[in-house]
Amino acid sequence: MGIMRSVLLWGSRNEWLRSQLPKYGIVRRAVSRFMPGERLEDALDAAELLKADGLSTVLTKLGENITSADEANAVAEHYREVLDKVKTRGLDCHISVKLTQLGLDLNPELCVQHLESIVKHAETTGNFVWVDMEYSQYVDVTLEVFTRVRSVHANTGLCLQAYLYRTADDLQKLLSIPAAIRLVKGAYAEPENIAYQKKQDVDKQYYAFVLELLKRTQANNAKPGIATHDKAIIERTQAAIGAMELPKNTVEFQLLYGIQREEQLRLSREGYKTRVLISYGSYWFPWYMRRLAERPANVWFVMKNIFG
Ligand SMILES: Cc1cc2nc3c(=O)[nH]c(=O)nc-3n(C[C@H](O)[C@H](O)[C@H](O)COP(=O)(O)OP(=O)(O)OC[C@H]3O[C@@H](n4cnc5c(N)ncnc54)[C@H](O)[C@@H]3O)c2cc1C
Repeated sequence: MGIMRSVLLWGSRNEWLRSQLPKYGIVRRAVSRFMPGERLEDALDAAELLKADGLSTVLTKLGENITSADEANAVAEHYREVLDKVKTRGLDCHISVKLTQLGLDLNPELCVQHLESIVKHAETTGNFVWVDMEYSQYVDVTLEVFTRVRSVHANTGLCLQAYLYRTADDLQKLLSIPAAIRLVKGAYAEPENIAYQKKQDVDKQYYAFVLELLKRTQANNAKPGIATHDKAIIERTQAAIGAMELPKNTVEFQLLYGIQREEQLRLSREGYKTRVLISYGSYWFPWYMRRLAERPANVWFVMKNIFG
């Protein structure tokens, strides 16, 4: 892992930086490249604009590792409200939740209840709920919580991170359910005894999983999310879909708001289901640092905006 990436990922966990840097207008303005605004309405308005370009969306309220049951209740209630507003506006817009925002650190049972209440509500509004994957220490419990809720409700899918060695096994287990998987490379700092560190190794594992997902898609119809901005992988995935004679919409390409906008439009134009993840909320600092870490060139972009 490069030094810049390590420093940024360290910064994403630093409480002092988190409390200080968001106070500066200049930092807040830099964040606007990756999020349309802090309010839910900002995110919904952005989803409407993307819809006009043929893009579907998924909303996530930023926040993680909450420390009280009241906060977890408020987050669950908020997401139920989001589902109602999405329906009212007639958007093809999923939601994506972090289990540590639903009280996982406090009590996994509480977290199951909240996830289930959200997923049930999504059933009534005809929607779908993605579960994010966080630091590796949460993978086991996330799988457990997800599998319990998924065993009763089919309208939920889980994110898996290709950089973890264990994901090969986790993928097999989930495909046997069969659950919808959102495949990502992985955004956190993880040690080398559990995760690949080199981009080429992560990319290799990622694409092997894409092929696995495509093969299983043919067999069991669970729709995977290919969540990457990596143009080479996207093109190889498109070629594989063609070679396997799968319909274009058997996978969803998923990308983040503000990143590879041209690629998002190209995929949509070419008839591939494309979904853009829009983040909102005031707790954006750790998330923003992870976005910078994904492409350290972003830091120079921020510096240029600040100083010139
Ligand atoms: C829909 C979605 C959901 C996600 N959910 C999770 C999750 O639950 N858990 C998790 O660990 N991770 C999640 N991620 C993040 C993911 O793990 C990666 O950190 C992130 O997508 C960057 O990796 P990449 O696949 O785009 O490939 P990379 O190899 O990192 O990037 C490929 C190219 O994309 C462009 N690019 C990538 N990131 C940026 C950026 N921030 N700014 C500008 N350009 C960029 C660059 O041109 C880069 O060369 C999610 C990503 C997406 C798209």
